[in-house]
Amino acid sequence: MTTRNDELLERYEHSVLGVFGRPPLVLSHGDGCWVHDVDGKRYLDLVGGIAVNALGHGHPALVAAISKQAGEAIHVSNLFTSPGQIALAERILGIADAPEGSAVFFANSGAEAIEAAIKLSRRTGRGGIVAAEGAFHGRTTGALALTHKAVYREPFAPLMPGVSHVPYGDEDALRAAVGPGTGAVVLEAVQGEAGVLEATTAYLQLARELTTAHGALLVVDEIQTGIGRTGTWFAFQQAGIVPDAITLAKGLGGGVPIGALVTFGPEVSGLLTVGQHGSTFGGNPLAAAAGLAVIDTIEEQGLLHHAAEAGQHLADSVAALDHPLITGVRGKGLLRAITLAEPVAVQVASAARDAGFIVNPVAPDALRLAPPLVVTTEQLDLFVAALPGLLDAVTTTKDA
Ligand SMILES: *Cc1c(COP(=O)(O)O)cnc(C)c1O
Repeated sequence: MTTRNDELLERYEHSVLGVFGRPPLVLSHGDGCWVHDVDGKRYLDLVGGIAVNALGHGHPALVAAISKQAGEAIHVSNLFTSPGQIALAERILGIADAPEGSAVFFANSGAEAIEAAIKLSRRTGRGGIVAAEGAFHGRTTGALALTHKAVYREPFAPLMPGVSHVPYGDEDALRAAVGPGTGAVVLEAVQGEAGVLEATTAYLQLARELTTAHGALLVVDEIQTGIGRTGTWFAFQQAGIVPDAITLAKGLGGGVPIGALVTFGPEVSGLLTVGQHGSTFGGNPLAAAAGLAVIDTIEEQGLLHHAAEAGQHLADSVAALDHPLITGVRGKGLLRAITLAEPVAVQVASAARDAGFIVNPVAPDALRLAPPLVVTTEQLDLFVAALPGLLDAVTTTKDA
Protein backbone atom coordinates (compact mmCIF):
# COMPACT_ATOMS: atom_id res chain seq x y z
CA MET A 1 0.00 0.00 0.00
CA THR A 2 1.34 3.42 -0.92
CA THR A 3 1.21 5.74 2.01
CA ARG A 4 0.90 9.50 1.91
CA ASN A 5 4.56 9.59 3.02
CA ASP A 6 5.61 7.50 -0.02
CA GLU A 7 3.50 9.54 -2.37
CA LEU A 8 4.92 12.87 -1.22
CA LEU A 9 8.50 11.58 -1.12
CA GLU A 10 8.12 10.45 -4.70
CA ARG A 11 7.17 14.02 -5.60
CA TYR A 12 10.02 15.33 -3.44
CA GLU A 13 12.50 13.32 -5.44
CA HIS A 14 11.24 14.89 -8.64
CA SER A 15 11.22 18.45 -7.38
CA VAL A 16 13.65 19.12 -4.53
CA LEU A 17 17.40 19.11 -5.26
CA GLY A 18 18.88 15.83 -4.13
CA VAL A 19 21.51 17.14 -1.73
CA PHE A 20 19.76 15.71 1.34
CA GLY A 21 18.99 12.31 -0.13
CA ARG A 22 15.48 10.90 0.33
CA PRO A 23 14.20 11.93 3.77
CA PRO A 24 12.60 9.15 5.81
CA LEU A 25 9.42 11.05 6.66
CA VAL A 26 7.16 13.89 5.62
CA LEU A 27 6.22 15.77 8.77
CA SER A 28 3.01 17.75 8.85
CA HIS A 29 2.97 19.36 12.27
CA GLY A 30 4.28 19.27 15.77
CA ASP A 31 3.12 19.96 19.25
CA GLY A 32 5.53 20.37 22.12
CA CYS A 33 8.15 17.64 21.81
CA TRP A 34 6.03 15.57 19.45
CA VAL A 35 5.93 15.66 15.66
CA HIS A 36 3.40 14.01 13.37
CA ASP A 37 3.91 12.60 9.90
CA VAL A 38 1.43 12.85 7.07
CA ASP A 39 0.17 9.33 7.76
CA GLY A 40 -0.86 10.35 11.27
CA LYS A 41 1.98 8.65 13.14
CA ARG A 42 3.43 10.47 16.13
CA TYR A 43 7.12 10.67 17.10
CA LEU A 44 8.93 12.00 20.14
CA ASP A 45 11.27 14.58 18.63
CA LEU A 46 14.63 14.14 20.33
CA VAL A 47 16.51 16.08 17.65
CA GLY A 48 14.50 19.31 17.73
CA GLY A 49 15.23 20.20 14.11
CA ILE A 50 18.95 19.84 14.90
CA ALA A 51 19.05 21.92 18.07
CA VAL A 52 16.74 24.54 16.55
CA ASN A 53 13.31 24.02 18.11
CA ALA A 54 14.43 25.20 21.54
CA LEU A 55 10.82 25.63 22.69
CA GLY A 56 9.53 22.58 20.85
CA HIS A 57 6.69 22.91 18.36
CA GLY A 58 3.81 25.34 18.65
CA HIS A 59 4.96 26.94 21.89
CA PRO A 60 2.26 29.50 22.74
CA ALA A 61 4.73 32.27 23.59
CA LEU A 62 6.60 31.91 20.28
CA VAL A 63 3.41 31.51 18.25
CA ALA A 64 1.87 34.58 19.88
CA ALA A 65 4.99 36.69 19.39
CA ILE A 66 5.45 35.93 15.70
CA SER A 67 1.72 36.05 14.96
CA LYS A 68 1.47 39.50 16.48
CA GLN A 69 4.64 40.66 14.72
CA ALA A 70 3.46 39.29 11.38
CA GLY A 71 0.43 41.55 11.62
CA GLU A 72 2.58 44.58 12.37
CA ALA A 73 5.67 44.28 10.16
CA ILE A 74 7.48 41.20 8.91
CA HIS A 75 10.30 43.02 7.18
CA VAL A 76 11.59 46.57 6.91
CA SER A 77 15.15 45.96 5.47
CA ASN A 78 18.33 47.22 7.06
CA LEU A 79 17.84 50.62 5.47
CA PHE A 80 15.79 50.99 8.65
CA THR A 81 15.65 49.30 11.99
CA SER A 82 12.84 48.18 14.27
CA PRO A 83 12.22 48.20 18.02
CA GLY A 84 12.46 44.41 18.07
CA GLN A 85 15.84 44.30 16.35
CA ILE A 86 17.30 46.73 18.86
CA ALA A 87 15.73 44.91 21.81
CA LEU A 88 17.03 41.54 20.61
CA ALA A 89 20.55 42.89 20.13
CA GLU A 90 20.48 44.29 23.67
CA ARG A 91 19.08 41.05 25.03
CA ILE A 92 21.80 38.95 23.33
CA LEU A 93 24.55 41.24 24.66
CA GLY A 94 23.05 40.87 28.12
CA ILE A 95 22.89 37.08 28.19
CA ALA A 96 26.38 36.86 26.65
CA ASP A 97 27.79 39.04 29.47
CA ALA A 98 29.29 41.12 26.67
CA PRO A 99 31.25 44.18 27.81
CA GLU A 100 30.39 47.79 26.97
CA GLY A 101 31.00 48.52 23.30
CA SER A 102 29.96 45.04 22.12
CA ALA A 103 27.58 44.68 19.20
CA VAL A 104 25.43 42.26 17.20
CA PHE A 105 25.29 41.73 13.44
CA PHE A 106 22.17 39.87 12.32
CA ALA A 107 22.16 37.30 9.54
CA ASN A 108 19.76 34.51 8.59
CA SER A 109 21.68 31.30 9.21
CA GLY A 110 24.69 29.81 10.88
CA ALA A 111 26.85 29.86 7.77
CA GLU A 112 26.11 33.55 7.31
CA ALA A 113 27.13 34.27 10.89
CA ILE A 114 30.41 32.48 10.15
CA GLU A 115 30.85 34.49 6.95
CA ALA A 116 30.59 37.64 9.05
CA ALA A 117 33.18 36.22 11.44
CA ILE A 118 35.52 35.50 8.52
CA LYS A 119 35.19 39.08 7.32
CA LEU A 120 35.84 40.27 10.88
CA SER A 121 39.00 38.16 10.92
CA ARG A 122 40.15 39.59 7.57
CA ARG A 123 39.84 43.09 9.04
CA THR A 124 42.65 42.31 11.47
CA GLY A 125 44.87 42.57 8.40
CA ARG A 126 45.94 38.96 8.79
CA GLY A 127 45.00 36.20 6.37
CA GLY A 128 45.31 33.17 8.62
CA ILE A 129 42.44 31.37 10.32
CA VAL A 130 42.96 28.37 12.57
CA ALA A 131 40.07 25.93 12.88
CA ALA A 132 39.81 22.41 14.27
CA GLU A 133 39.72 19.00 12.71
CA GLY A 134 36.16 17.69 12.89
CA ALA A 135 34.81 21.24 12.85
CA PHE A 136 31.51 22.11 11.24
CA HIS A 137 30.97 25.76 10.48
CA GLY A 138 28.55 25.61 7.56
CA ARG A 139 28.37 25.05 3.82
CA THR A 140 28.76 28.42 2.09
CA THR A 141 32.14 28.55 0.39
CA GLY A 142 33.76 30.72 3.05
CA ALA A 143 32.35 28.74 5.95
CA LEU A 144 33.20 25.53 4.11
CA ALA A 145 36.87 26.48 4.18
CA LEU A 146 36.61 26.28 7.98
CA THR A 147 34.51 23.10 7.98
CA HIS A 148 36.82 20.11 8.09
CA LYS A 149 35.02 17.14 6.57
CA ALA A 150 36.65 16.12 3.29
CA VAL A 151 33.45 14.93 1.56
CA TYR A 152 31.89 18.35 2.13
CA ARG A 153 34.99 20.25 0.97
CA GLU A 154 36.65 18.35 -1.81
CA PRO A 155 34.00 18.72 -4.54
CA PHE A 156 34.34 22.50 -4.20
CA ALA A 157 38.09 23.00 -4.18
CA PRO A 158 39.81 25.36 -4.33
CA LEU A 159 38.32 26.92 -1.22
CA MET A 160 39.26 30.18 0.47
CA PRO A 161 42.98 30.06 1.32
CA GLY A 162 44.59 30.74 4.68
CA VAL A 163 42.75 28.20 6.84
CA SER A 164 44.63 25.53 8.77
CA HIS A 165 43.04 22.74 10.79
CA VAL A 166 44.52 21.45 14.03
CA PRO A 167 43.53 18.31 15.93
CA TYR A 168 40.66 19.34 18.25
CA GLY A 169 41.74 19.39 21.86
CA ASP A 170 45.48 19.08 21.12
CA GLU A 171 47.11 21.90 23.08
CA ASP A 172 50.54 21.61 21.48
CA ALA A 173 49.09 21.66 17.98
CA LEU A 174 47.16 24.82 18.82
CA ARG A 175 50.27 26.44 20.27
CA ALA A 176 52.18 25.62 17.10
CA ALA A 177 49.45 26.89 14.78
CA VAL A 178 48.74 30.34 16.23
CA GLY A 179 51.20 33.06 15.27
CA PRO A 180 51.61 36.60 13.94
CA GLY A 181 49.75 35.71 10.72
CA THR A 182 46.68 34.42 12.56
CA GLY A 183 43.62 36.64 12.25
CA ALA A 184 41.35 34.33 14.19
CA VAL A 185 41.05 31.00 15.91
CA VAL A 186 37.54 29.62 15.34
CA LEU A 187 36.40 26.82 17.61
CA GLU A 188 33.23 25.09 18.76
CA ALA A 189 33.06 24.54 22.53
CA VAL A 190 31.33 21.25 21.74
CA GLN A 191 31.68 19.85 18.22
CA GLY A 192 28.09 18.88 17.47
CA GLU A 193 28.36 17.55 13.94
CA ALA A 194 31.57 15.66 14.72
CA GLY A 195 29.58 13.55 17.19
CA VAL A 196 29.21 15.82 20.23
CA LEU A 197 32.86 16.09 21.24
CA GLU A 198 33.61 18.47 24.09
CA ALA A 199 36.62 20.72 24.41
CA THR A 200 38.08 20.85 27.90
CA THR A 201 38.03 24.08 29.85
CA ALA A 202 41.84 24.06 29.74
CA TYR A 203 41.81 23.88 25.93
CA LEU A 204 39.41 26.80 25.56
CA GLN A 205 41.41 28.81 28.08
CA LEU A 206 44.59 28.06 26.16
CA ALA A 207 42.88 29.23 22.96
CA ARG A 208 42.05 32.46 24.78
CA GLU A 209 45.61 32.91 26.05
CA LEU A 210 47.24 32.18 22.69
CA THR A 211 44.96 34.48 20.70
CA THR A 212 45.47 37.28 23.21
CA ALA A 213 49.25 36.79 23.17
CA HIS A 214 49.41 36.85 19.37
CA GLY A 215 46.83 39.58 18.79
CA ALA A 216 44.42 37.22 17.04
CA LEU A 217 40.66 36.97 17.55
CA LEU A 218 39.07 34.09 19.41
CA VAL A 219 35.77 33.25 17.75
CA VAL A 220 33.62 30.66 19.48
CA ASP A 221 31.04 29.10 17.18
CA GLU A 222 27.99 28.79 19.44
CA ILE A 223 25.58 28.12 16.60
CA GLN A 224 24.66 24.71 18.02
CA THR A 225 25.73 25.14 21.66
CA GLY A 226 24.24 28.59 22.26
CA ILE A 227 20.88 29.78 23.64
CA GLY A 228 20.79 27.40 26.57
CA ARG A 229 21.54 24.15 24.79
CA THR A 230 24.36 23.11 27.14
CA GLY A 231 22.75 24.38 30.35
CA THR A 232 24.12 27.94 30.27
CA TRP A 233 23.22 30.64 27.77
CA PHE A 234 26.48 29.91 25.95
CA ALA A 235 28.97 27.10 26.32
CA PHE A 236 31.97 29.47 26.50
CA GLN A 237 30.61 30.77 29.79
CA GLN A 238 31.35 27.40 31.42
CA ALA A 239 35.03 27.82 30.54
CA GLY A 240 35.22 31.21 32.22
CA ILE A 241 36.61 32.92 29.12
CA VAL A 242 35.59 36.05 27.25
CA PRO A 243 35.83 35.48 23.49
CA ASP A 244 36.28 38.23 20.89
CA ALA A 245 33.26 37.06 18.98
CA ILE A 246 30.62 34.35 18.97
CA THR A 247 28.39 33.10 16.19
CA LEU A 248 24.75 32.15 16.81
CA ALA A 249 21.88 30.70 14.83
CA LYS A 250 20.00 27.40 15.35
CA GLY A 251 18.17 27.80 18.68
CA LEU A 252 18.01 31.59 18.60
CA GLY A 253 14.83 31.86 16.53
CA GLY A 254 13.21 28.67 17.81
CA GLY A 255 12.76 27.67 14.17
CA VAL A 256 12.48 31.07 12.51
CA PRO A 257 15.69 31.54 10.48
CA ILE A 258 18.13 33.91 12.15
CA GLY A 259 21.87 34.07 12.66
CA ALA A 260 24.10 36.49 14.51
CA LEU A 261 27.68 37.50 15.00
CA VAL A 262 28.35 39.06 18.39
CA THR A 263 31.52 41.15 18.61
CA PHE A 264 32.91 41.69 22.08
CA GLY A 265 34.14 45.13 23.12
CA PRO A 266 34.66 48.33 21.12
CA GLU A 267 37.93 47.35 19.47
CA VAL A 268 36.61 44.17 17.87
CA SER A 269 33.25 45.76 17.10
CA GLY A 270 35.06 48.59 15.34
CA LEU A 271 36.71 46.24 12.86
CA LEU A 272 33.66 46.18 10.60
CA THR A 273 32.54 49.66 9.60
CA VAL A 274 29.81 51.25 7.51
CA GLY A 275 29.42 49.50 4.18
CA GLN A 276 31.70 46.56 4.95
CA HIS A 277 28.97 44.01 5.49
CA GLY A 278 25.24 43.68 5.15
CA SER A 279 22.17 41.52 4.72
CA THR A 280 18.75 42.19 3.26
CA PHE A 281 16.76 40.04 5.66
CA GLY A 282 19.11 39.90 8.65
CA GLY A 283 17.40 40.66 11.96
CA ASN A 284 14.05 41.55 10.44
CA PRO A 285 11.16 42.24 12.82
CA LEU A 286 9.71 38.73 12.51
CA ALA A 287 13.00 37.00 13.29
CA ALA A 288 13.70 39.48 16.08
CA ALA A 289 10.30 38.81 17.66
CA ALA A 290 11.05 35.10 17.55
CA GLY A 291 14.48 35.56 19.16
CA LEU A 292 13.04 37.71 21.93
CA ALA A 293 10.25 35.21 22.64
CA VAL A 294 12.75 32.34 22.78
CA ILE A 295 15.11 34.13 25.16
CA ASP A 296 12.29 35.41 27.39
CA THR A 297 10.69 31.99 27.60
CA ILE A 298 13.96 30.23 28.41
CA GLU A 299 14.44 32.72 31.22
CA GLU A 300 10.87 32.67 32.53
CA GLN A 301 10.63 28.89 32.51
CA GLY A 302 14.07 28.28 34.03
CA LEU A 303 15.13 26.27 31.00
CA LEU A 304 18.87 26.74 31.48
CA HIS A 305 18.73 24.89 34.75
CA HIS A 306 16.28 22.41 33.27
CA ALA A 307 18.56 21.69 30.28
CA ALA A 308 21.44 20.95 32.63
CA GLU A 309 19.35 18.73 34.91
CA ALA A 310 17.41 16.90 32.22
CA GLY A 311 20.62 16.31 30.27
CA GLN A 312 22.30 14.84 33.33
CA HIS A 313 19.24 12.72 34.02
CA LEU A 314 19.37 11.40 30.47
CA ALA A 315 23.08 10.61 30.70
CA ASP A 316 22.67 8.88 34.07
CA SER A 317 19.66 6.87 32.94
CA VAL A 318 21.36 5.70 29.74
CA ALA A 319 24.47 4.73 31.71
CA ALA A 320 22.32 2.84 34.22
CA LEU A 321 20.97 0.64 31.42
CA ASP A 322 24.40 -0.97 31.45
CA HIS A 323 23.77 -2.27 27.95
CA PRO A 324 26.68 -4.02 26.21
CA LEU A 325 26.22 -1.99 23.03
CA ILE A 326 26.37 1.38 24.86
CA THR A 327 29.87 2.65 25.58
CA GLY A 328 28.97 6.03 27.05
CA VAL A 329 27.18 9.35 26.82
CA ARG A 330 29.01 12.47 25.68
CA GLY A 331 28.07 16.12 25.77
CA LYS A 332 26.54 18.70 28.05
CA GLY A 333 23.03 19.78 28.92
CA LEU A 334 20.65 18.74 26.17
CA LEU A 335 23.34 18.28 23.52
CA ARG A 336 24.28 14.64 23.88
CA ALA A 337 25.58 11.62 22.02
CA ILE A 338 25.04 8.04 23.07
CA THR A 339 28.11 6.17 21.88
CA LEU A 340 27.84 2.62 20.62
CA ALA A 341 30.30 -0.27 20.64
CA GLU A 342 29.50 -1.01 17.00
CA PRO A 343 28.84 1.17 13.93
CA VAL A 344 25.06 0.60 13.99
CA ALA A 345 23.79 4.13 14.67
CA VAL A 346 21.93 4.34 11.36
CA GLN A 347 20.09 1.08 12.04
CA VAL A 348 19.28 2.09 15.62
CA ALA A 349 17.94 5.47 14.47
CA SER A 350 15.77 3.71 11.92
CA ALA A 351 14.45 1.23 14.50
CA ALA A 352 13.85 4.17 16.85
CA ARG A 353 11.83 5.93 14.18
CA ASP A 354 9.68 2.84 13.66
CA ALA A 355 9.13 2.83 17.42
CA GLY A 356 8.15 6.52 17.42
CA PHE A 357 11.39 8.28 18.41
CA ILE A 358 13.45 10.69 16.33
CA VAL A 359 17.18 10.53 17.06
CA ASN A 360 20.12 11.46 14.85
CA PRO A 361 22.87 9.01 13.81
CA VAL A 362 25.50 11.74 13.84
CA ALA A 363 28.37 9.24 13.41
CA PRO A 364 28.43 5.53 12.57
CA ASP A 365 28.79 4.79 16.29
CA ALA A 366 26.97 7.72 17.87
CA LEU A 367 23.36 8.84 18.26
CA ARG A 368 22.90 12.55 18.81
CA LEU A 369 20.06 13.86 20.95
CA ALA A 370 19.32 17.59 20.93
CA PRO A 371 15.68 17.70 22.03
CA PRO A 372 13.69 20.87 22.66
CA LEU A 373 14.79 22.48 25.93
CA VAL A 374 11.21 21.98 27.15
CA VAL A 375 11.53 18.18 26.97
CA THR A 376 10.43 16.57 30.23
CA THR A 377 12.37 13.89 32.08
CA GLU A 378 9.30 11.66 31.61
CA GLN A 379 9.61 12.06 27.85
CA LEU A 380 13.32 11.27 27.99
CA ASP A 381 12.50 8.22 30.11
CA LEU A 382 10.17 6.93 27.39
CA PHE A 383 13.14 6.78 25.06
CA VAL A 384 15.54 5.36 27.64
CA ALA A 385 13.03 2.59 28.41
CA ALA A 386 12.75 1.73 24.71
CA LEU A 387 16.49 1.90 23.97
CA PRO A 388 17.59 -1.59 25.07
CA GLY A 389 14.90 -3.15 22.87
CA LEU A 390 16.00 -1.04 19.89
CA LEU A 391 19.64 -2.00 20.38
CA ASP A 392 18.80 -5.69 20.82
CA ALA A 393 16.64 -5.70 17.69
CA VAL A 394 19.49 -4.22 15.66
CA THR A 395 22.12 -6.65 16.94
CA THR A 396 19.81 -9.65 16.47
CA THR A 397 19.02 -8.62 12.88
CA LYS A 398 22.71 -8.12 12.21
CA ASP A 399 23.69 -11.53 13.61
CA ALA A 400 20.85 -13.33 11.80
C1 LIG B 1 24.60 24.11 12.05
C2 LIG B 1 25.92 24.73 12.30
C3 LIG B 1 26.46 25.70 11.42
C4 LIG B 1 25.80 26.08 10.12
O1 LIG B 1 24.54 26.62 10.29
P1 LIG B 1 23.53 26.74 9.03
O2 LIG B 1 22.37 27.50 9.57
O3 LIG B 1 23.19 25.35 8.60
O4 LIG B 1 24.24 27.48 7.97
C5 LIG B 1 27.67 26.26 11.76
N1 LIG B 1 28.31 25.93 12.89
C6 LIG B 1 27.81 25.03 13.75
C7 LIG B 1 28.55 24.72 15.00
C8 LIG B 1 26.61 24.39 13.47
O5 LIG B 1 26.14 23.46 14.31
